[in-house]
Amino acid sequence: MEDQGNSDDIATVFISSALHDEICDLAARCWPEECCGLLIASNQSPTHIRRIVPARNIATEPRKTFEIDPQTLIDTYRAVRGRDEAVVGCFHSHPNGNVLPSTTDRARADVHGFLWLIIATDQSGVLQFGMYRAQHQSPAQINGGETIRYFRRCQVIQSATA
Ligand SMILES: [Zn+2]
Repeated sequence: MEDQGNSDDIATVFISSALHDEICDLAARCWPEECCGLLIASNQSPTHIRRIVPARNIATEPRKTFEIDPQTLIDTYRAVRGRDEAVVGCFHSHPNGNVLPSTTDRARADVHGFLWLIIATDQSGVLQFGMYRAQHQSPAQINGGETIRYFRRCQVIQSATA
């Protein structure tokens, strides 16, 4: 990757090995349904995932999609405000083993810069980890057209500590 060495590099995300394992366990346990939840970081280090908040998947078809319990969203956004933390992303699993964001994921990625962690699972457990950052290209940059949304794949660096 070209732009490394920049501490603000938005394409690199750090996660502790313990947290990585916690997410994998959760995703494997939820199969064949999709697990989901939120990624939390401190305001000082938004690219270092500090903790996760697992949520109930309240989708009517949890084997095909996910919907984070709105009460968890309300509680979590309220809690981080008082702790100098931020909700920097969300995670969910793909029980069909596909690590790429779905068309639905793209349509729902309405916050520029938000992280989307996708855990590909099958009956044997976790296959792959895909971290993406939602990008919105503003109309000005593309001559007054509609905003383009896409996901930029991020490099995940596992560390012994967060
Ligand atoms: Zn998805």
